[in-house]
Amino acid sequence: MDLLQVEVLFNREQLHQKVVEMGQKISEDYRGRELLVVGILKGAFVFMADLIREIDVPMELDFMDVSSYGLSTSSSGEVRIVKDLEYSIKDRDVLIVEDIIDTGLTLKYIVENLKTRNPRSVKIACLLDKPTRRKTEIFPDYVGFSIPDKFVVGYGLDYAEQYRHYPAVCILKPAVYEKSR
Ligand code: 5GP
Repeated sequence: MDLLQVEVLFNREQLHQKVVEMGQKISEDYRGRELLVVGILKGAFVFMADLIREIDVPMELDFMDVSSYGLSTSSSGEVRIVKDLEYSIKDRDVLIVEDIIDTGLTLKYIVENLKTRNPRSVKIACLLDKPTRRKTEIFPDYVGFSIPDKFVVGYGLDYAEQYRHYPAVCILKPAVYEKSR
């Protein structure tokens, strides 16, 4: 990790401990049921890979990729499905796995879209939450950490497709994006 560019917010051990806790809670809540875990690409893939290995109920996995329309990105709330689910979710217990909730508009769209497909239930597991940025009512069922309004990278999260492989969640130093402007 280039510590001139980033500052560590949560290290490997802190992330591991939190993911274990989340996995245990999810396992208790879904005991006796079977999950369909839906990862939102690309950012959630590292968190999802770790989280599912801490969940002790039967599950299947699927993925969805979404992007925001136009330049206004997530704040527009207009979301396009780039890759849809492979499987039907009718009568399934769906757990959406997301990296971070910011305005909440992306996840709101995804949840509303999935609910039209008649699942038995839809819940959200999210590693990071920036509650002060919220523009819509959305309440994740499982949250790792609430964080301040800073741009974070690593553990799957990118800036211009970089940093996803960093093992820690890091705050990107403003000098990095100021340089590229
Ligand atoms: P929302 O619709 O909640 O505003 O947007 C959520 C999406 O915005 C996340 O899935 C993520 O792709 C992106 N995002 C929001 N905050 C951050 C951040 O601090 N770092 C990174 N890398 N992506 C973010």
